[in-house]
Amino acid sequence: MMTITYVLGNKLYLNITNKCPCACEFCIRRNGEGAYGSDSLWLEHQPTAEEVIDALKKEDLDSYDEIIFCGFGEPTCELNILIKTAKYIRSVTKTPVRINTNGLSDLINESSTCKLMTGLFDTVSISLNASDKEKYNQITQPKWKDKAFDAMINFAVEANEIFPKVILSVVDVISDEEIEKCRELCKKLGIELRVRNYSA
Ligand code: SF4
Repeated sequence: MMTITYVLGNKLYLNITNKCPCACEFCIRRNGEGAYGSDSLWLEHQPTAEEVIDALKKEDLDSYDEIIFCGFGEPTCELNILIKTAKYIRSVTKTPVRINTNGLSDLINESSTCKLMTGLFDTVSISLNASDKEKYNQITQPKWKDKAFDAMINFAVEANEIFPKVILSVVDVISDEEIEKCRELCKKLGIELRVRNYSA
């Protein structure tokens, strides 16, 4: 059985793909099979949008505080499935929807993608990870070393125009000085910074 949905607290998480163009130092995929006690999040095959929707139909979506696209992979690697399933969620519940993304959708999909997701998420949480390109590449190890940091920032700026709430996040494995630099960058961009606790 594949784990497409899993619950943490009173939040429903969606694991729609295992694809990702990065290899982040702190990625939960490095620490085992699941996320904080869930079953294995390695998918036997790439689920279709229909399979994801079928998994959602088994859930009482109204009963959750939030529904979050997250999981063992980058959701925008399967943009069509993401959009289709997010539209389904919007059609059946008012529960807030969030996406946790590395912000590299435009590079992944080789086109401008932010607007395609208009209306689908209440919150977009983007991994900032570092205050500059060099440190970002070190931590995130993206496929596109020359353009990933700028593309992620660009995506965040665009997202900030479109979605009600946008967050840039860092994990507290970086130094206090670096967190401060990230805070300054976020201030300049007018986007909230969230410092996430690293729990392996
Ligand atoms: S972007 Fe997300 S899924 Fe991909 S390696 Fe980094 S933390 Fe893991």
